[in-house]
Amino acid sequence: MITPNMHYANLKDSYLFYNIAQKTKAYLEANPDKYLYRMGIGDVSLPLPAAVIQALHDAVNDQSAKDHFHGYMPECGAPFLRETIAGYYRERGVQISADEVFVSSGASDELGDILDLFDSRSSALVIEPAYPAYVDANVMAGRKILHLPCGQENAFLPAPQEDVKADILYICSPNNPTGAVFSRSQLQDWVDFANKNGSVILFDAAYEAFIEDPALPHSIFELDGAQTCAIEICSLSKTAGFTGTRLGYTVVPKALCRSGMHFHEMWVRNRTTKTNGVSYIIQKGGAAVFTPEGQRQIRANIAIYKKNAKVLMDALDELGIWYCGGKNAPYIWMQCPDGMGSWEFFDYLLREIQVVGTPGEGFGACGEGYFRFSTFGSPEDTKEAARRIAGLLRKKGL
Ligand code: PLP
Repeated sequence: MITPNMHYANLKDSYLFYNIAQKTKAYLEANPDKYLYRMGIGDVSLPLPAAVIQALHDAVNDQSAKDHFHGYMPECGAPFLRETIAGYYRERGVQISADEVFVSSGASDELGDILDLFDSRSSALVIEPAYPAYVDANVMAGRKILHLPCGQENAFLPAPQEDVKADILYICSPNNPTGAVFSRSQLQDWVDFANKNGSVILFDAAYEAFIEDPALPHSIFELDGAQTCAIEICSLSKTAGFTGTRLGYTVVPKALCRSGMHFHEMWVRNRTTKTNGVSYIIQKGGAAVFTPEGQRQIRANIAIYKKNAKVLMDALDELGIWYCGGKNAPYIWMQCPDGMGSWEFFDYLLREIQVVGTPGEGFGACGEGYFRFSTFGSPEDTKEAARRIAGLLRKKGL
């Protein structure tokens, strides 16, 4: 009789998006004439930029001609894309070599796969509220998980604590769901803490492109000492609309070493064993994101999402409601009014004004009492949702 991975039995059911879907479905069945303003979505609504589409078409044409055809790609990524991404880091003053960049099919895949590099007896620290995959991927591997809850007292940006140490430290900045971004000095504290304790930081930079404040770090490698304690996981999903096209990259520095083992060498070995690389066509499309034209076009798209954020923030400012995020991130994390619970507030918005958001409780217990709005919807829907929220909560006497 085989023994399955029994750790799967320890996974908690993920009710968040299932419950949202069930509640909205039930509402629409009971109110078929109503239109819903969906401010909960984590997917983009704008199409791929023109420069990417052109590059994808050109790459398809390459595949039609014997002289230009590409078969298997190098497992760790095409040299042209690895060079391009290393150049993107150099523009920000970060020196990493092209072979420290690993092209991937997206951050989700990497957040799961990278755990192959760590012993199952190692522990993982998750700052909560958090993107749910961090906890689940470690539960599947049977790792011990330490939860570091945070809240308004530290603006959802906690400092490391001497009595909460772990081998793997997850840091997501800009954060999903809170939209909060670690400052340089706050992130430096985490880097110093990791180096001192021999931990490894898994830095999720999926939303770095949304940072507009020049003082905030886009990459953990902007901090001193990060190359000896961090792996950075990035994605073009939200940066450039690749959620359905799938492309990301991971930086594993050669200087990262624990117990005589070099993580860069281990990751090369892992990738060359477990993948056959990302498709040539998609990598060509990805390279176009980093051209001057591609950068102009993705900035224009991000500006549209940022305008959505501004509309929502203006409404919350006017109501005097506490929130964080929005300015340097595509998410706004607000405190539910009148001490409402996050599912209670969800039901209230759905019932009264047909606005759908995401209850904070779904991102960890300390998210209870908070609510996440995404800014990836259409400007028209966002404006109307903000108008309705302002009207409803004003009427409520806030
Ligand atoms: N990390 C965070 C914090 C995310 O919010 C997401 C997607 O929503 C991902 C990673 C996954 O990104 P990808 O589409 O590249 O798999």
